[in-house]
Amino acid sequence: MKIHEYQAKDIMKWYGIDVPNGRAAFSPEEAARIAKDLGSPVAVVKAQIYAGGRGKAGGVKIAHNIDEVKYFASQLLGNKLVTKQTGPEGKVVNRLLIEEGINIEKEYYLGMTIDRDSAQIVMMGSADGGMEIENVAKEHPDHIFYEYVDPAVGLEPFQARRLAYRMRFPENVINKVAKTMENMYQLFVEKDCSLAETNPLVLTTDNRIVAADAKLNFDDSAIYRHPEIYALRDENEEDPKERDAAKASLSYVNLGGDVACMVNGAGLAMATVDLIKFYGGEPANFLDVGGDSTVEKIAEAFRIMQSDDQVHSIFVNIFGGINKCDVIAGGIVEAAKVVGLKVPVIARLDGTNVAEGRKILAEANLPMVHSIPKMEEGAELAVKLAAETKEKLAAGKEA
Ligand code: GDP
Ligand code: MN
Repeated sequence: MKIHEYQAKDIMKWYGIDVPNGRAAFSPEEAARIAKDLGSPVAVVKAQIYAGGRGKAGGVKIAHNIDEVKYFASQLLGNKLVTKQTGPEGKVVNRLLIEEGINIEKEYYLGMTIDRDSAQIVMMGSADGGMEIENVAKEHPDHIFYEYVDPAVGLEPFQARRLAYRMRFPENVINKVAKTMENMYQLFVEKDCSLAETNPLVLTTDNRIVAADAKLNFDDSAIYRHPEIYALRDENEEDPKERDAAKASLSYVNLGGDVACMVNGAGLAMATVDLIKFYGGEPANFLDVGGDSTVEKIAEAFRIMQSDDQVHSIFVNIFGGINKCDVIAGGIVEAAKVVGLKVPVIARLDGTNVAEGRKILAEANLPMVHSIPKMEEGAELAVKLAAETKEKLAAGKEA
């Protein structure tokens, strides 16, 4: 789960990390009021969306008086911001962060995430902070330094200091930087983060160490332990498909391709994604309908998959165990009735009640549904039909 920058800064502040004073604003008037309250000669107006790259895209504005704050706020609010991370469709800005300006001496990068290979938290730091850490990682991987933290011991003070030195902070702020790292580590562990990042971490001209940007992501599987964080969820920022899927207790991840998959069990779902790739296709999603499906849940899964314009075929790959093939088949027929099938459906059903399931599909006699007994053949056909559907649509548009 993600949260907004201003919320991440609040949490960092509880943990003793220095952040600029500021508050969220939802209208230009509110933005102006906050700037007046802050009383600093320079105010920063920052678009709050769940995506980075705002600086380069004009989503971070420096205002020198209250009128400028109001002007920038009215320009940003309600309008789309297109950054490197939003994709070409961009994101509408509904909230701003208004904060006091800081005097930047130098910008650094500090991040923390879980390294799955070593099963440890890794802390990453670089003197090349600012806007483009992705490019630093690509072009100068030797400019990024790493500290791996033994979970049984925790972040040791010498590790924090070592990283601070490697990041080339001046001698007189090393301890302050190390303290910031220790605070961030404590936050990361206590709040079950999957990512904690500040880019830039700023050394100010008066030797403060300030988190000028803040990003916190949380482990969805642990979010039940943090109701105060769950409450910060901004549904406007989430993919509506992923949101609706979560509501229907479907586990769904958008993958951006054109062959939708509906599978039971995470293992089979991954094998299915691999198989689509093997036959030269691009999976549109990972969708695990789970163990105990109902006709309604399957129909909802179809609605969600078809709400993605990119989807050109749907591969249903179910091995019935607790799930019964007749229920899945019933769901497909229900989906055809209620939401309508817009793209070809390739149904490979096997396992419990398979004969009944195939019979239901055969009797429904749906022209869009192809019943295929073998998984490999099903995947191959799904890829082929997706390409054909795409061609037909393109031809239709030209005509
Ligand atoms: P991002 O581009 O979405 O990562 O947004 P950032 O919060 O990192 O802002 C982009 C840039 O704004 C930073 O790298 C800073 O260089 C710049 N900036 C300039 N002055 C200020 C200031 O007073 N406060 C903050 N927060 N950022 C500033
Ligand atoms: Mn940033």
